[in-house]
Amino acid sequence: MGDTIESVEGLFEDTANGPRLLGSRCATCSTPYFPRSSGCHNPDCDLSKMEDTYLGPKGRIWSLSVQTYPPPPPVVSNDPFEPFAAAMVDLEEGLRVLGRIVCDDPGQVNVGDEVELVIAPLGNDADGREVVSWQFKPV
Ligand SMILES: [Zn+2]
Repeated sequence: MGDTIESVEGLFEDTANGPRLLGSRCATCSTPYFPRSSGCHNPDCDLSKMEDTYLGPKGRIWSLSVQTYPPPPPVVSNDPFEPFAAAMVDLEEGLRVLGRIVCDDPGQVNVGDEVELVIAPLGNDADGREVVSWQFKPV
């Protein structure tokens, strides 16, 4: 116990300005990507020129669902399990990202709600380590 690990390395970072997703953007056509992409997939783009960028923290819920039963491994969740909302969030940078919603009552979260990125625990893994990941919190 006591150890904390990231759900997946290289996807998010707690920066001096707060949590951010680690994405990339094509300098030619401005298309954003998450996770980072080594090439631009925009069929109208003439020259793939990728640059690393931070994404977030602000977004708005585009769609959501409440998970009412424990997802199967390797997904980490609270034990004992508590239902949580998972949402597709439109980030201000122009792409849509899936994340859990941090809140007391998932039934009170709605499409259109403004949210911001947080790095928060998902639960503990089989070795007892706390697993943290990017999530969204209503603002
Ligand atoms: Zn491009």
